[in-house]
Amino acid sequence: MTVGWKRKQPAICGLSRRLTAIGMTRFELATSAPPVQRSNQAEPHPVVGRISLGVGGKSGFRTTNSTETGHLSLGWTGLPGTIRRRFFVPGNGISLMTVSDPAASRQQHAMKHRPADRPASPSDSENSSDAAMTAIPQRSATSRPESQRVGFAGRLRRSWPLLIFGIAIGAGLGIYFLGGSDRGLDRPLELTLRPIPAIYSPERAMGYLETICDFGPRPTGSEAMKRQQEFLTDFFTENGASVELQKASIRHPLTGEAVEMANLIASWYPDRPIRFLLCAHYDTRPFPDRDRKDPKGVFIGANDGASGVAAWMEMSHQFSSLPADVGVDVVLFDAEEFVFSEGRDDYFLGSTHFAQQYKMSPPAVGYRAGVLLDMVGDRELQLLYERNSLRYARDVTKSIWQTARRLGVRAFVPRTRMQDIRDDHLPLNQIAGIPTTDLIDFDYPRPGFRAPQYWHTTEDVPEKCSGTSLAAVTWTVHQWLVEQSGK
Ligand SMILES: [Zn+2]
Repeated sequence: MTVGWKRKQPAICGLSRRLTAIGMTRFELATSAPPVQRSNQAEPHPVVGRISLGVGGKSGFRTTNSTETGHLSLGWTGLPGTIRRRFFVPGNGISLMTVSDPAASRQQHAMKHRPADRPASPSDSENSSDAAMTAIPQRSATSRPESQRVGFAGRLRRSWPLLIFGIAIGAGLGIYFLGGSDRGLDRPLELTLRPIPAIYSPERAMGYLETICDFGPRPTGSEAMKRQQEFLTDFFTENGASVELQKASIRHPLTGEAVEMANLIASWYPDRPIRFLLCAHYDTRPFPDRDRKDPKGVFIGANDGASGVAAWMEMSHQFSSLPADVGVDVVLFDAEEFVFSEGRDDYFLGSTHFAQQYKMSPPAVGYRAGVLLDMVGDRELQLLYERNSLRYARDVTKSIWQTARRLGVRAFVPRTRMQDIRDDHLPLNQIAGIPTTDLIDFDYPRPGFRAPQYWHTTEDVPEKCSGTSLAAVTWTVHQWLVEQSGK
């Protein structure tokens, strides 16, 4: 799965919201036209100060690569009319901030347009009281030191932009450091308002997740993937499904050799008139390439790989009692991220193959809708509306969140997240025409500056996941399926 910032409209990060709330300044994250160009525009005011800031690099903003996200820019807006420059991050986490002063601008303008043969007269600097209070590099060496000409009030007036600026930076740093604390990890989060019914078992679901992780890393074509396929084939068969592997050959991105991939399709009641596609990917990324310390280390994919599978396993216990007109397929996609190099290797090979086959030879009863699970095991689960899901499967998406609301499952947050998520639901929507929504919590464990980041790192392990999250999702989606009966 990859992610892209929404273009045009600046995405405002959590820090921004908090700073805006105290009415002091505003931080923006945007990917509009290369912002470096804007910084080269003619300056309306001369620069009187510059400050460099490191802002945490790529992972702080979760860019996948600079070509996809364009340049990041951080914009700063101060009090009206006095400080308004933007400063930019050209992709690698360094920013430049410029502070300008309109009074200095006027003075400089006056100096520039004075007749060359006339020396600066005292009246020039008295034309504007603002100008008299401004430090100008070109000021005549014979003029009195500024401190003798302006009093305390004047100095304060001249320097207040910098004062405000300093306070803003101080507040920003405070939030930056406070925002990264591990709060929330120790205490269980309130994912549901009511107890989850006992038929959805957090312990059992978590057991499934751990069993899958015990196979080790499960990239496409690996021995561990084969063992996982055998295990899941047996498991779903015992739970009443007919299971098949939909195989295809793909190219290994590094060696060019042929690699066999296989989607696992487990079907319940293929003849029933209302059918749903329940899917997830079950391969794991070859390497934890976002891990700062160990990007070639072991990637277990507890959340990104095992969580969706475990949730469908847990839900399969309910399929024997589905409404009489509802049938389901659980489809586990291979090669969702057989990606060794970001930007070079293709995502979604398994789901693309599945979508093409579906389009070429549609089943007797087509899917009414699809539900994709990805990264649903996070202990701090917060599922927001995902933009591509709203674009392609708005009704499906909204109705699932409505079910969650009715049940009191607060892990489903009826708010749209900033980024587009590119995931297996894209080929299903675009190629197969199956309106498919993506239930995904991309903030693993949570958004914010300095928050830990487990996505695509060696930290994506079962200890970072929770059976309660899996059961909450299972409960919601199962109840939603039941509600579709008779419609
Ligand atoms: Zn991933």
